Amino acid sequence: MHWGAPTSVPPSGAQETAEAAQAILSFEGRLESPQKLMPRNRQSEDSILRKISDSFRSASWKSGQSVALGIGDDAALFQPKRGHETILTCDWFLEGTHFFREKHPPDAVGWKCLARALSDVAAMGGTPRGFLLSLALPETHTGRWLDLFLGGLRRASRKFQCVLTGGDTTRRNEILINVTVVGEVPAGRAVLRSRANMGDIIYVSGRLGEAELGLRILQRSKGAPSKKNPLIKKHLYPAPRLALGQWLAEKGLVTTMMDLSDGLSSDLSRLCAASAIGAQLESSKIPLVRFPDVALKEHHDPLHLALHGGDDYELLFTAPPHKTKLLPNSFRGVRLTAIGRITQKRELLLRDENSSVSQLTSRGWDPFRRKL
Ligand SMILES: [Mg+2]
Repeated sequence: MHWGAPTSVPPSGAQETAEAAQAILSFEGRLESPQKLMPRNRQSEDSILRKISDSFRSASWKSGQSVALGIGDDAALFQPKRGHETILTCDWFLEGTHFFREKHPPDAVGWKCLARALSDVAAMGGTPRGFLLSLALPETHTGRWLDLFLGGLRRASRKFQCVLTGGDTTRRNEILINVTVVGEVPAGRAVLRSRANMGDIIYVSGRLGEAELGLRILQRSKGAPSKKNPLIKKHLYPAPRLALGQWLAEKGLVTTMMDLSDGLSSDLSRLCAASAIGAQLESSKIPLVRFPDVALKEHHDPLHLALHGGDDYELLFTAPPHKTKLLPNSFRGVRLTAIGRITQKRELLLRDENSSVSQLTSRGWDPFRRKL
């Protein structure tokens, strides 16, 4: 791999913020015709690599001190700050499994492939520093589609201050994307899944089921998705809860944390297994999706969406009872809600409004069980 030497053109903080805001505001849900997306000239691997590295040229601003060497050599060099540990995580984002080229705008594919990988860094309480991009594309997608994809990826990179440090590309009939993120966390401060104790209170950030409902609306929509629909936006442009994760870790308020990528019922089950404990949720306390119109509500059960819907990228965490009074109701506009407690017996229970308790089965996203 050789992606050309980057030059450093640091934009101002205000510029970054404006660009990040623009990333959301300029969302048009645009899906151009396949003909328009075709490249005018035949692309070589070198020209594609150059396009990618050029696209991130001005983004070498935030390599920080931890990325000692970025794009431009056989490999990047990472030097964690003194007293910090390195976080490593990777994430597939595949056409036909995680997105469809005829439904998902290319800039949303670019934004989301990085944002969802960063959610795992948020779940550790860490700060992302750099990422590697592995990209396989059909030849038809090496022109405008790639430009729009890189636009979305670049905006996410700036918004979340995580710089492209290298990667690899190849030709393939499907669009296959893998993102590897390098981050860091003060030594000993990473929040794991395995430290929950009996009696801990279970919390979630945000509202659950929004992205799943957004996906369903997107799947049923004909033509371009509505740019005004916040549910579709949440599905296409998720925001990893990095600031919240870092704050919770820094303040030492939580015993465990993970991100909600596959759905509460599946992810909580994983947290319980890692901590060798159980949990009981209160269905009346789970923050549910708000329906934009009544007709939609008739066809979708909000509790089912919240329990089993994937892709929300909210945080699930546990806090000891004596620390719950230190947790605010919301953090930077994102609500934090207590939804249940950790129990000793290794089972997942759901108590409904009539105080009737039933087993909660994991029915979230599982790529080996169902398709998108
Ligand atoms: Mg995760």
